[in-house]
Amino acid sequence: MISRFTYFKPHNLNEAVQYLEKEENAFVLAGGTDLMILLRRNLINAEHILDIKALPEMDLFNFVDGAGLTIGASVVVNRVVDSEVVSAKYPALHQAAASLASFQLRNRATVVGNICNASPGADLPPALLVYDAVVNITGPQGTRQVPLNEFFTGVKRTVLQRGELVVSVQLPEPGAGDKSVYLRQARLRGHDLATVGIACRLKPDGKVAIGIGAVAPTPKRLFALEDKINERGISKETIEWAAQEIREHIHPITDVRSSAQYRLQIASVLLKRGLLSLIGKEE
Ligand SMILES: Cc1cc2nc3c(=O)[nH]c(=O)nc-3n(C[C@H](O)[C@H](O)[C@H](O)COP(=O)(O)OP(=O)(O)OC[C@H]3O[C@@H](n4cnc5c(N)ncnc54)[C@H](O)[C@@H]3O)c2cc1C
Repeated sequence: MISRFTYFKPHNLNEAVQYLEKEENAFVLAGGTDLMILLRRNLINAEHILDIKALPEMDLFNFVDGAGLTIGASVVVNRVVDSEVVSAKYPALHQAAASLASFQLRNRATVVGNICNASPGADLPPALLVYDAVVNITGPQGTRQVPLNEFFTGVKRTVLQRGELVVSVQLPEPGAGDKSVYLRQARLRGHDLATVGIACRLKPDGKVAIGIGAVAPTPKRLFALEDKINERGISKETIEWAAQEIREHIHPITDVRSSAQYRLQIASVLLKRGLLSLIGKEE
């Protein structure tokens, strides 16, 4: 049986922050696709639930030339999948969103919930990471912005402090000619977290960015590998080399979805496939 909790659905952000600060064991509810499972299985001791879906700030989903894309915390994944701006300017995010679970689930699950849940194998963080996403946080001390690559602190852990909640995630506008791709491997199609998920981006200046999930306690940008690739210059030979080198930059574990060894191999294959596709070459 689900434990008893109070439920609060404010229309004002200040009220939301005050509630979160005041109440012990208070949890934010967005789509609930992660939270409800934890509640139902009694895996968390939630005494208070704050539903953020009536907060106007959370519904923001817009692209502004020069400023980029803002995705509010109640924006569901299918809105991202349906967005022409996202598919044109942020293809890796579009592909990652379209790969998440099923249509029904994407109608509930939010982009920000996917980040805040901080699952190492979540699909959206690798894509958001390659676009240098920034997380907009509000709390009792005011607002702050945290780059997504500093947001995750461990498995299911983030920098969020008591009383804080995420209002939106923001992505700078990519330059003309920017290319990106998201590839994932899973045991089943749909309804299964990725064994490995990788986002690769080739910027107009020829530099690459790589985001990866399910190979470490948190989703990661592989900055050191990016630097080595960028020093060599992107080419088919560099990509062959990088596909081996990536093994030195990730530390997967063995779990129910995969052995560590298989994850190393899949990361290598997906990196090669992703980068080759960005330079218009085949394996
Ligand atoms: C059957 C099934 C299949 C799934 N498949 C996939 C998959 O393929 N890929 C994948 O990545 N995920 C998958 N998931 C996980 C889940 O759907 C996603 O993580 C989803 O995006 C979470 O969003 P939500 O709005 O439902 O979050 P919620 O469940 O509402 O919240 C998730 C967590 O984030 C916190 N939170 C939410 N919003 C905020 C906020 N604004 N500020 C602070 N904290 C907040 C909540 O308190 C909670 O701890 C699957 C889940 C299920 C049940």
